Amino acid sequence: MSPHLKDRPVAMVRAPSGIAGGELFFQKHAERTAMPGLTAHSRDLWPKHPPLLTVDTVDALLSAAQMNVVELHTWNSTVSKLDSPDRVIFDLDPGDGGKWKHIQEAALLLRVLLSELGLEAWLKTSGGKGLHVVVPLSSRLSYDAVKSFSQYFVRYLTKTIPERFSAVSGASNRVGKVYVDYLRNGMGQTTAAAFSARARPGMEVSMEQLTELKSGAQWNVQTAREYLSFQSHDPWGDYWSRAQPLAAAIKRLR
Ligand code: ATP
Ligand code: MN
Repeated sequence: MSPHLKDRPVAMVRAPSGIAGGELFFQKHAERTAMPGLTAHSRDLWPKHPPLLTVDTVDALLSAAQMNVVELHTWNSTVSKLDSPDRVIFDLDPGDGGKWKHIQEAALLLRVLLSELGLEAWLKTSGGKGLHVVVPLSSRLSYDAVKSFSQYFVRYLTKTIPERFSAVSGASNRVGKVYVDYLRNGMGQTTAAAFSARARPGMEVSMEQLTELKSGAQWNVQTAREYLSFQSHDPWGDYWSRAQPLAAAIKRLR
């Protein structure tokens, strides 16, 4: 999990009284109860906002766990270039009555259309109902530019395959379809990090997509740990060296 957290501002879901019935807290900034080991950044990093936090070491991660942190969500940019996202995320949520096979196919279709634009993408379960598609970028553009690309892409997606995709929120608009949300791509927005557990009843974990996958909630804190112990191949291995420029893709989409 560490490479997915390093230098990235986080939002954490804390469950001081457990996840069953107890209140959950969403924490984005340093507060009075300090978590030793976490980096609290200067206010100058993001002016007019409280200090941002990063979880940069294994000790910091342990410290967060010690402070009842269950979920770790991250920004699309790192502190060294806070204004320029180094990834795009598409959030795929199944509509009512949607079959898991549909969302799986949707993720594959989305990946094919991205590859038509010259972009390689990685898939992971959200640990909840759906999937996240992640595209690594060379961070040269502003949040606004990347977000508007993601908006155009979703529009293109729903125009090209309207039977399968919806860009309109609201249950009635997505019956049997997959809703693709591009709004995770704005500045300050966060998404559950790969390998993060979720503070939901089965404590599912966000994992890379596998062909045998049966739901977004397939892997949990017990099964994921066990499964990962036996893996020698890191599905994110190539991710870190695939920073992709977006300019050509933007041009092709126009
Ligand atoms: P699913 O597959 O079930 O849709 P998900 O991870 O895609 O799971 P959610 O868990 O519903 O989506 O989270 C939605 C977004 O809202 C995420 O970007 C998350 O960072 C953010 N979020 C979650 N909880 C809070 C909160 N209490 N306050 C503010 N933002 C939150
Ligand atoms: Mn989602």
